[in-house]
Amino acid sequence: MQWPAPCASLVAYFEPMEDAMPQAEERELAAGVLNAAAHFLSRVREWWRRRAELDAMDPAELERMASDFGMTGNELKDLAARGPDAANLLYERMRLLGLTRADVERAAHGLMRDLERTCACCSDKATCELDLAARPDDPAWEGYCPNALGLTGVKMLKGRFPL
Ligand code: SF4
Repeated sequence: MQWPAPCASLVAYFEPMEDAMPQAEERELAAGVLNAAAHFLSRVREWWRRRAELDAMDPAELERMASDFGMTGNELKDLAARGPDAANLLYERMRLLGLTRADVERAAHGLMRDLERTCACCSDKATCELDLAARPDDPAWEGYCPNALGLTGVKMLKGRFPL
C-alpha cells in the first residue's frame, strides 16, 4: 500500500511489526506502551504539584530526570509550569477524530507523550479552543496545529492493526 510522505515515519515503524509480531505479543506491547503513556501523564501531574522543587533541584539531577522523557531540564520545568490540564485540547481533538490513546500508542511508541508535550506548549490554544467549540469539523485546524501531521497519520493507520 502506498502512503503519503507525511505518514512515512509511522508506516516505517509499523509495517515490520505487522509482519513479525504475533497477536499475543502485539497485545502485550500495546499494554506496555499504554502504561508508559499513563505513567508520563501521572508524572506531569506530579511535576506540576512539585514544580517549586524542580526549580530548587540540582541541575544535573534535573537533566537526568528530564532525559528519561526525551526533554531538557528547562523543557521539563516549562511543561510542569503549564499545569496538569495543559494538553486537554489535544484530547478533545482526538475525540473528534475518533482516536484513543491506544490508537496513538499503537501507531508509534512514545508518540502520545510527544503529542501531549507539544500540545501543552502550543501557542495556538485560543484559536484551537474557539475552533473546537464553534467549528469542530472545519479542517482549518490542520493548518496551525503542530500535532496535525501526527494525528492525521494515526487516523489513516487506525484499524489496520487490531488489538
Ligand atoms: S492546536 Fe495546539 S492546543 Fe490545539 S490540539 Fe493542536 S497542539 Fe493542542
